[in-house]
Amino acid sequence: MKATPGQQQLLLKTHELSTELQRAKRTLAELESGAALRELQAEMRASSEVLLSAQQRYEEFEVDIARVLTDIELVDSRIERDLARLATSSNPKDIGGVQSELAALESRKSLLETSELEFLEARDAAGFEVAAAKKLRDELIEKIAAVEATIHVELGKLQSSVSIVESEIRATRSSVPEELMAQFDRKATRGVPIGRLIDRACGTCHLSLTSAVYSDVMSSAEDELPTCPNCEAFIVR
Ligand SMILES: [Zn+2]
Repeated sequence: MKATPGQQQLLLKTHELSTELQRAKRTLAELESGAALRELQAEMRASSEVLLSAQQRYEEFEVDIARVLTDIELVDSRIERDLARLATSSNPKDIGGVQSELAALESRKSLLETSELEFLEARDAAGFEVAAAKKLRDELIEKIAAVEATIHVELGKLQSSVSIVESEIRATRSSVPEELMAQFDRKATRGVPIGRLIDRACGTCHLSLTSAVYSDVMSSAEDELPTCPNCEAFIVR
């Protein structure tokens, strides 16, 4: 294929720009798909569930504590009433009955107080869990906002670099003869269309050229663009 050294350089540049464009478009698609956010959003959902369940437990313990406190008040008022009866009664049978009821009330009160302590401890533990879950959620909210802002900036940069590269490609292509460009495009649909000669190997498929092919390549005219017999890419000397 005929191609002046200048055109050969333009083809190489077109290939480099196309590679750059593909890379930028892949990154763009990745950013637009929101893959970077998905993991954080999943963490966010998990942390919201943890927070919700800790809050529910906290509220349940609050209800338990209120119930136990009401029971204690009730027991206290019965103890008070019994003590008053004890102070005024002179009947030994009544006194005996009140005393045994008082003993039962005291042991009931002691059980209730133990429960109250247990519920208080459990509520405080749930309170710590709520605080930790809120902290994690706030951190995630910040992280997500930061990632979203970065994505926004990156998207803008990529979109403008894509359009710059696209116009560079158009400019380069317009400086290459149509037939040569068509050959290049045909090769590009099958794989990498062009590469440099690196030592004695094709820069595209990295296969060493046989001595015969190598000497053909080296002895061909300056405006001749040889093709690799293995991968069919153009070889630029
Ligand atoms: Zn090759």
